Amino acid sequence: MPFPIKTCIVCGEEFELKPGKPGFANRCPECSEPESESATDGLSSGNAEQDAARRKAIRDLLYRKEI
Ligand SMILES: [Zn+2]
Repeated sequence: MPFPIKTCIVCGEEFELKPGKPGFANRCPECSEPESESATDGLSSGNAEQDAARRKAIRDLLYRKEI
């Protein structure tokens, strides 16, 4: 049975999301390793989830101000 194919949010590579895969479900095994600077060097801050969460929080604040 094939595993679902996911796209890594860090490096953009597609990978198989295997049950019990360690790390994040939206990161490939290589990028799931903590502080693997060599794998993500120059590609991303490595905090895409944090950035997205922060952006959402800011948007929520803006909406609240408008209403
Ligand atoms: Zn990756």
